[in-house]
Amino acid sequence: MTEDIVILTGAGISAESGLGTFRDVNGLWTRYDLEEVATPDGFARNPALVHEFYNTRRANCRAATPNAAHLALARLEREGLGRVLVVTQNVDDLHERAGSRAVWHMHGRLARALCAACGYRWDAPDFMDPQDTCPACAAHATRPDVVWFGEYPHRMDEIWERLRAATLFVAIGTSGQVYPAAAFVQDAGRAGARTLELNLEPSAGISDFDEARLGKASDLVPAWVAEVLAQAEP
Ligand code: NAD
Repeated sequence: MTEDIVILTGAGISAESGLGTFRDVNGLWTRYDLEEVATPDGFARNPALVHEFYNTRRANCRAATPNAAHLALARLEREGLGRVLVVTQNVDDLHERAGSRAVWHMHGRLARALCAACGYRWDAPDFMDPQDTCPACAAHATRPDVVWFGEYPHRMDEIWERLRAATLFVAIGTSGQVYPAAAFVQDAGRAGARTLELNLEPSAGISDFDEARLGKASDLVPAWVAEVLAQAEP
């Protein structure tokens, strides 16, 4: 059977590359208040603090390398028979650096900048600063092109279309607490897809999945990809 696979990834797939999840006890997220660094109001209150947070994440991301899970998903896209789409909540670029081509960043990307005044987007410099000006309109309103709490994620209509067409939906390394991504398992399941969770700990929505496997992404994802590729062999 030719599969049409939609894979949702979260912070857990990048954890073994050294990029912390929300819950890492010593991680970057514990040193900053979410309301201050990941909301439009926080940015309006203290743009310097928000830029500092994302400059640090951008530097961490540059220093990180894709792990076995990212590489396995790229292999699945390259060697599988059907369609494979990665929808990621991550703002890092580890899927692309592993070789995946069909990657949609629903929460934006650290590597891009956005002008809050005119909507222009461009490649982010390594370090952003409130004094930077927009290359298009010259406003002092430059921000990371990431989706903050209270903002609408990117490409949602296209994502829902692909979830409706999917034969298999897989969620990897996501806690299932941030919507609308947390409801993708229900959207895909209602449309007839089989659903699989690969996660270190059970997500909030684990009972919505047909199957769940618990463990590290670097173990689970390559093993699952090998299974899918073996089933696709003539
Ligand atoms: P989360 O921190 O809420 O949950 C992480 C999940 O990954 C947990 O379920 C945990 O059990 C699992 N996990 C941890 N280590 C793992 C491993 N080695 N292998 C497999 N699973 C592992 O993250 P989320 O669900 O992605 O939260 C959503 C929000 O967090 C998103 O908006 C995202 O933008 C943001 N976020 C992104 C990054 C990044 O870009 N790398 C990092 C932290 C948070």
